[in-house]
Amino acid sequence: MERIKIYDKTFVPYIPHDELMDCIDKVAGQINRDFAGSEDIPVVLCILNGAIMFTGELMQRLNFPCQLVSTKMTSYVGTSTTGEVKQTLPLTASLKGRRVIIAEDIIDTGLTLVALKKMLAEEGASEVKVCTMLFKKDAYRVDEKIDYIGKEIPNRFILGFGLDYNELGRNLKDIYVLED
Ligand code: 5GP
Repeated sequence: MERIKIYDKTFVPYIPHDELMDCIDKVAGQINRDFAGSEDIPVVLCILNGAIMFTGELMQRLNFPCQLVSTKMTSYVGTSTTGEVKQTLPLTASLKGRRVIIAEDIIDTGLTLVALKKMLAEEGASEVKVCTMLFKKDAYRVDEKIDYIGKEIPNRFILGFGLDYNELGRNLKDIYVLED
């Protein structure tokens, strides 16, 4: 892993791919235990674009019948949240009466999660569990339970493995952090 430059910013190696895989193994194991023997078909809800890599890895590890649904939420511009969360792509299938596992790349302030939970309640989902690969505990400012957390990280801007800086960097296998 080497330092990389994207536009005006330099990023340094932070979480190697292998460690990400271990985090995903851990949350997948917890979800498999909780959903073992389900009689319904739970939905894994991928929050595009950032969670696309995480969701792909997570789904490969789930051992019960499940359906993939996606939607897109947008709040970040550059390296910080605008505070205003918008659903910028509609759900790819109805979630009425369905049990849903939200698959997020990272939970930061939690504002996206609040908007998602409101939208899912309006959609009529019967149960919502929250799974995130990464969690910025010190930035979290809402009162919503997070059921499955891959790894807690400090409040610093990261990219790679699905996460972008102005749409670049999503293709990196590892996660990098903005240099001080
Ligand atoms: P929240 O609404 O919890 O503040 O932010 C959630 C969304 O903000 C994430 O799904 C992600 O798209 C974006 N985000 C939060 N922190 C970071 C970060 O460190 N790097 C990148 N690239 N995106 C982030």
